[in-house]
Amino acid sequence: MRASVLKKYRNVLESKRNEILALPVRSTEVDEAMRTGDWVDHSSQENDLHVNLALKQTDTKLLRAIEEALQRVDSGTYGICMDCEEPIADARLDAVPWTRVCIDCKQSQGG
Ligand SMILES: [Zn+2]
Repeated sequence: MRASVLKKYRNVLESKRNEILALPVRSTEVDEAMRTGDWVDHSSQENDLHVNLALKQTDTKLLRAIEEALQRVDSGTYGICMDCEEPIADARLDAVPWTRVCIDCKQSQGG
């Protein structure tokens, strides 16, 4: 995979990771604002609350998958299926940048 393409996926993975890592902090701030009645002084936090709720389903499994994908970027194996060792299609990497396997292997695993 070309360095410029790798860099693109690294950026995508890092921004997604930062998004997840930022959640607990943001959640605490919102809780604190609601508890103290400080809400009106933080008008932007209403928006954050919606983001927080939307991403509540995000779990540590996704974070781990992203960390592993970043390690594969560093080791030069990113974009290679971990099962059949064939290149993973760009369309699949664009849709799921932290994927470990190609679409064929994913389907043969039954999910
Ligand atoms: Zn495969």
